[in-house]
Amino acid sequence: MQSIKESVKIGLEVHVQLTSLKTKLFCGCSADYRGREPNTLVCPVCLGLPGALPVLNEKAVKYAIMAALALNCKISERMVFFRKNYFYPDLPKNFQITQYDRAGGVPLAADGYLYIEDHGQTKRVRISRVHLEEDPGRLIHIGPIDQSPYTLVDYNRSGVALLEIVTEPDITSPREARLFLQKLRNILEHLGIFDGSLEGSMRCDANISLAGGTRVEVKNITSFKEVERALNFEIIRQRGLIEKGVAVKRETRHWDEVRRVTISLRAKEEEQDYRYFPEPDLVPVVITKDMIEEIRSKMPELPDERVERFMRMYGLPKYDAEVLVSSKQLADFFEECVKIYNKPKEISNWMMSDLLRYLYENNLELHESKITPKMLVDMIRLIDEGVISGKIAKKILPIMIVSGKDPRRIIEEEGLLKISDEKVLSELVDRVFAENQKAVKDALTDEKAVHYLVGQLMKLTKGKADPAIANKIIRGKLEEIKSGAKSI
Ligand code: ZN
Ligand code: MN
Repeated sequence: MQSIKESVKIGLEVHVQLTSLKTKLFCGCSADYRGREPNTLVCPVCLGLPGALPVLNEKAVKYAIMAALALNCKISERMVFFRKNYFYPDLPKNFQITQYDRAGGVPLAADGYLYIEDHGQTKRVRISRVHLEEDPGRLIHIGPIDQSPYTLVDYNRSGVALLEIVTEPDITSPREARLFLQKLRNILEHLGIFDGSLEGSMRCDANISLAGGTRVEVKNITSFKEVERALNFEIIRQRGLIEKGVAVKRETRHWDEVRRVTISLRAKEEEQDYRYFPEPDLVPVVITKDMIEEIRSKMPELPDERVERFMRMYGLPKYDAEVLVSSKQLADFFEECVKIYNKPKEISNWMMSDLLRYLYENNLELHESKITPKMLVDMIRLIDEGVISGKIAKKILPIMIVSGKDPRRIIEEEGLLKISDEKVLSELVDRVFAENQKAVKDALTDEKAVHYLVGQLMKLTKGKADPAIANKIIRGKLEEIKSGAKSI
């Protein structure tokens, strides 16, 4: 068992949409297709009508070069496009304009790497190539793909700029695959060319083999949340076959994220099936050293640099900085908070403990929650002003995340205001003393019993008693008893 597990080899082929582009890769149609009426963002070019000619989107090339630099790749001197020929309903031209690394072709960039950190260990995952290509249209199936009675096709996505990033099979577990995709997303988001929160903006195919056996390709992994599940399933499936002595077939399988299984789609096609040849409608683009240096000099801050800055600027420990910068959303949220209220460590503490825990336990991303930096800061201010206790804040935070309500409003609605009125507390302490006479006696000599009485008061007030005042009153009353001024 163990030996099979240890020899898992995974290579990823990731397709990332350059979502910051306004228009498609080879035409001026809007690339903002989500939620739009099907087949309305189309033109002769992206519909593949006869005689229509593609024109390369310059910004897409710059973004792609920027991404390749951030992934430590070597950039090619020439950018050439190829036709990848195949028939599929989502591909109106019957070929995809892409890049190819043979037959005189070169990918935009190659030979890069990315480091991932897992359990304190750093691992280098090599990136074999990065290239630009067009997204096909979107097929809409009714129910599971293998049971759909018919298929609808929406060409609004046809021609949207995609970056294809291919790794070497250096990944050895489903978890590492997820960490790789997370890191990749984080870098691309920091570059400002990609928004991973958009549905379908990052899609991943994975090659996976066990014990040096046959490689199986798993397609249709639509997010890094899914990658771990899909690969875990595939490992169990392949291991089952190997143990039964059945050969693992070389094939393409489809990840069904509803049923959480992979299903056989087709025998894997071979490279020669695609009849790659140079795209005659696009001229090669020369990428000069100046152009690369110009892009490099304007690169936004990358996550690793941001971690350093968070430590320097906000005095955060390395661990905090790394957690906060693990996603751009989170890091932006933090800096937004600090801008309003300059208490970086306090803000970081609340984010790293309660906020992240809640998001993790509910499988949410920050943008899917309703909390804003202002709400979190308002909550921390209320603690600092002594209006609420930390304990109450812990109750407020999840309500803010779910409801998006202002903390003051939550306090009012839930009746969570701290009780700091001495008269009210004094009466409540009398009640606690009356109900816990033995503990009161013990408390005259035993500090532990004092804590117990404080605890009882907290229980009675559902955590709302001001701890400092409560302590003062309880100790005061115990002194009175000791001096004989008051009886138990
Ligand atoms: Zn178009
Ligand atoms: Mn591709």
